[in-house]
Amino acid sequence: MALVLSGRKYARVVRASLRQRVSELQGQLPGLTVIIVGENPASKVYVAAKEKACVKVGFNSNVISLPAEVTQSEILAIVDKLNADDSVHGILVQLPLPEHISTDLIAAAVLPEKDVDGFHPVNVGRLWRGEQGLFPCTPSGIVSLLHHHNIPLSGKNALIVGRSNIVGKPMAALLLRENCTVTVAHSRTVDLKQRCAEADILVVAVGRAEMIKKDWVKPGAVVVDVGMNRRSDGKLVGDVDYDDVSPVCSAITPVPGGVGPLTIAFLLENTFKARNSLLAD
Ligand code: NDP
Repeated sequence: MALVLSGRKYARVVRASLRQRVSELQGQLPGLTVIIVGENPASKVYVAAKEKACVKVGFNSNVISLPAEVTQSEILAIVDKLNADDSVHGILVQLPLPEHISTDLIAAAVLPEKDVDGFHPVNVGRLWRGEQGLFPCTPSGIVSLLHHHNIPLSGKNALIVGRSNIVGKPMAALLLRENCTVTVAHSRTVDLKQRCAEADILVVAVGRAEMIKKDWVKPGAVVVDVGMNRRSDGKLVGDVDYDDVSPVCSAITPVPGGVGPLTIAFLLENTFKARNSLLAD
């Protein structure tokens, strides 16, 4: 039976370690400010969870809620202020933004050293160049989870299904840094099933409920399921058919309780790292 890679358990380990490191800090506590625009219910839930997680590990947390009609220049002025505020080490703009606001423009306005989402073009460049920087939370959490379980990565064939800027592409860059041989698949990939079946490490970030079945998976592969989908019966499932696939793979992340809890834990790690780098300058 496959090893279950529990992100829920590992996120607890990460948070406990952060609490310990915060208690040993001299001087300023790490500070995260989240900007939320409009009334999107899912965004409100995510932001509340981020705020709670910050408080639990001893960070300073602040949420700036703006009405959906806010202008782009008003948001840019707020970001400028936060960039200049020495008590703020991490700035996160909750997505999605209303249509009249350019997500790319706002992401690029955040100081790269405070960009705890890792979406700024400078951090994207640093990631691909193999330099130090702040990198996207979900893929960072996945690599750390694999290390935590001593899963060998160097020299392995890794296939990532999905090429988004938030998950697929940064996942590819991080696994390349781990010396995997990386392939990125997407909706136009020919023979996707065959390609999946050749992967030692299979990361799926598509957003299609239970699309990966056991005959898509190489026996003994490590399977990471990033997907979060609500089935018609209300059940939360991943992109991988867990019951079908788990008997053939060597390790697998469940949904829920797999990748999901790592995202906030690594947002906290990024904030801690940003604080230390900013104060060291
Ligand atoms: P996007 O919609 O931005 O990207 C989906 C990717 O999947 C695209 O690259 C798309 O290809 C590809 N794709 C779509 N259909 C197929 C198909 N039939 N075969 C192969 N590839 C396909 O999604 P995200 O990357 O933002 O998220 C992916 C999933 O991960 C979602 O379920 C999301 O909810 C979840 N998620 C979970 C997080 C967590 O914390 N656990 C964090 C972020 C996301 P193309 O580019 O060609 O269109």
